[in-house]
Order: sequence, then structure tokens, then C-alpha cells
Amino acid sequence: MKYDLVVIGAGIQGAGVAQAAAAAGYSVLVLEQSFPAAGTSSKSSKLIHGGLRYLETSQFGLVRESLHERALLLKLAPDLVKLKPLHIPVYEDSKRNSLTIRSGLSLYSLLSGLDSNARFKSLPSSQWDSLEGLKQDGLKSVFRYYEAQTDDAALTRAVLHSAMELGAECEMPGHFVSAHVNSHSCIVEFESEFGFKTASCRVLVNCAGPWASDIISRIEPDMYLPKVDLVQGSHLVLPPLLNNYFYLEAPQDKRAVFVLPWQGKLLVGTTEKIHYGTPEQAQCSAEERDYLLEVLSHYFPALEVDANQVGSFAGLRVLPRSEKSAFSRTREVLFEVDNEARPRLISVMGGKLTTYRTTALMALEKVKLSLPVKERIADTSRIPLSPVDWL
Ligand SMILES: Cc1cc2nc3c(=O)[nH]c(=O)nc-3n(C[C@H](O)[C@H](O)[C@H](O)COP(=O)(O)OP(=O)(O)OC[C@H]3O[C@@H](n4cnc5c(N)ncnc54)[C@H](O)[C@@H]3O)c2cc1C
Repeated sequence: MKYDLVVIGAGIQGAGVAQAAAAAGYSVLVLEQSFPAAGTSSKSSKLIHGGLRYLETSQFGLVRESLHERALLLKLAPDLVKLKPLHIPVYEDSKRNSLTIRSGLSLYSLLSGLDSNARFKSLPSSQWDSLEGLKQDGLKSVFRYYEAQTDDAALTRAVLHSAMELGAECEMPGHFVSAHVNSHSCIVEFESEFGFKTASCRVLVNCAGPWASDIISRIEPDMYLPKVDLVQGSHLVLPPLLNNYFYLEAPQDKRAVFVLPWQGKLLVGTTEKIHYGTPEQAQCSAEERDYLLEVLSHYFPALEVDANQVGSFAGLRVLPRSEKSAFSRTREVLFEVDNEARPRLISVMGGKLTTYRTTALMALEKVKLSLPVKERIADTSRIPLSPVDWL
């Protein structure tokens, strides 16, 4: 079996690279050890968003790109990506005061190119008590703006399905075992339902998310990967106690926490905790659960949460290792290419669900010197995406 690209992992990044590569006319094989979105891509906050809080860390390029992709996905995938109003309450003791929030939302709107979906308003105080028991004590203003919400796993399946419609092949289960990289090609060994198989490719794409370092350790000769941290983000899954969407400032440490109705449940998240175990061991700790419940009870003092009805899930962010807190580290995607002049291996780590399409285009651009000239068969910015059940 010979391919232009073999992609390891069918999370959103692997699915996105497969779609972009197949659309560009390349032959592609995707290896996924379990099922699409088995890793982080089913454990996100499920927002297709510009990332309002990234303005604080001056990640303007990421916000602009994300807002552009949000607008595109609202058009391409209307059954998967839907606009929702989020509320930001500002109190006397909030770290970010009304002026800061107003300025942030104005800049957000500007970075969107004044898209009508980036409009915002300050709610009149007469409407504050309609917000389902939101704490009124010390409340100074409530802003309403819009973000889009998705089903992250369903979106990943739809992108993978689109890749396969464009000709990509997928081995699932297809567990990557090892690869040997030389100046002409990569020989890849993987385990499928029917035993061990071998494929060769011009470029190997490592989209294994939190397993990226494990993949690199299985490649010969030794390959470099920058040091990264796996940072766990947990969400609580509660009964549908609220109908409105909130973007809150955690009283404990002033981090942003979302409260989001989703598919008949209420999601509350997220946390940031360095994870030292294997990716499979990620799970919401008692400490994270207490932290999130405390945020909820701080803002909704009358809300009664039955401890027996608190579910959770935990995902792992792949962030560059640094002394900075996880909250202030860049959310830009990380690319690592083995050889700029003759790339045979690229690792794509972290990034956003929202920007999977532009991430895929950037990844292809970085390895194009090793790929043949092919005739493009489609443009991913024009391919509609619909929910699929069959994967
Ligand atoms: C808590 C949290 C909240 C987030 N919220 C948002 C959000 O609201 N909006 C947003 O835009 N972004 C969000 N993100 C970011 C986004 O979810 C991730 O960047 C994205 O899902 C990463 O996808 P991935 O494909 O790189 O990794 P993954 O989804 O983890 O995919 C890796 C895949 O590789 C497979 N794999 C591993 N090893 C092998 C092997 N040996 N052989 C074959 N397959 C293998 C795994 O099974 C897995 O399916 C969030 C991230 C976290 C952690």
C-alpha cells in the first residue's frame, strides 16, 4: 500500500488534515486506534468560538482566524454548529470590570470584520432577574454576546466522512506501531483487525494529540519533539438546571468558566491541571469537581445540585512547556517538522477544534516540498458538512 500521506489519529486535527489532503488530490490513509474523536476531540467545551479570553494574552491572530472559521462553519455545517447567546455578569469585585469587558467585546467584533454574529449588548438591569437565579448582589452589568456551539465528536465524524468521500482511506481500528523514515519515504507498521500491516508514504502526519510523544518514540531514526505539557481540563455534566449560557469568572482564581446547556444536560467547565499519567488516565478529580461546583454555587446560590447526578469528563490540552500558568500559555497549534527542505514527518499538536481547517492547510503547506504536484479536486472552504451516524 502506497500513499502520499499517512495520518495517525482521527481526532479533529487528523480528520481535518485528511480532508484537506484528499481535497488537494493526494492519496491518504488515516490510522485510528479506536474510533473518531476518541481522544480530546470529544472532551472539549464544544464551542466554535473566537476565544474572547485570548485577547487578554494578545493572541489577536488566533482570535481573528477563529472568528473567520466560526463564520464559515456556521454556513458549511448549520446542523452541527449553532449560534448561542452567552452572558457575562460583571460584579463590584470582578477582576475584569465593565469597561474591560466592553472594550474586549468591541475588539472581538472588530476582529470578526464587524460580522453581525459578533454583536453584543449590555442588558438593562430590569432583565437581570430573568437570568435564572443569577446572584444579584454586587451585580453591575450583564453583557450578552454570541458564540457557536457544536457536538465536537459529531463534527469530527463529519469531517472524516468528508475526507473519505474525497477518497481518503481509513483503518479503524488501525493502531500505529512503528515507522522507519528515510530520505525517500516512510515505512509504517500498524495493527488492524486482521493483524499487522505495512504501508509506505511520502509524509507521515502525527495527529495523535496527547499521544504525540508516544508516536515519536516509535519512529526510527530518533526524531525531535519540543517538550510539551498535558494539561487536563475537566467538565461537570449536570441535569438541565439552567437554560441560559454563561461565561463566568471563577471567584477562586479569576479564571474563565463556562456554564453551557448542551444536549439536555448542563456542562460546567473547565479546569487546568498538569497531567502526569498516561492519556488514558485522565479523569476529573475530586478537587476539580469541588472547584467547578463552587463556581456554580457562587453565582447561582439557590441552585440545588444532587451529588448523585454529577457526571464528568476530562480532556487533555497539549501546551508548550513553560513556567507560565496553563491559563496564559498560547493556544496556537504547534507544528514540528523533521526536515524543512525534505519533510517526511510532521507533528500537529494542540490548537483548537474551531480552527481545524486552517490548521490542516498550514500543515500541508509545511510538507508540500515532499509531495507531488496534484490537481486539486475540492476546496474545504466550500464543502458542506452534515451529521453522519455510520462511523
Ligand atoms: C478541556 C478542553 C476544552 C476545549 N474546548 C475547546 C473548545 O470549546 N473549542 C475549541 O475550538 N477547542 C477546544 N479545545 C481544543 C480542542 O479540543 C483540541 O485542540 C482538539 O480536540 C485536539 O484534537 P487532536 O486531533 O489533536 O487530538 P485528539 O482528539 O486527542 O485525537 C488524537 C487521536 O489519535 C488517536 N491515536 C493515539 N495514538 C494512536 C496510535 N498509536 N495509533 C492510531 N491512533 C492513535 C487517538 O485515539 C485519538 O483519536 C479544548 C481542549 C480541551 C482539553
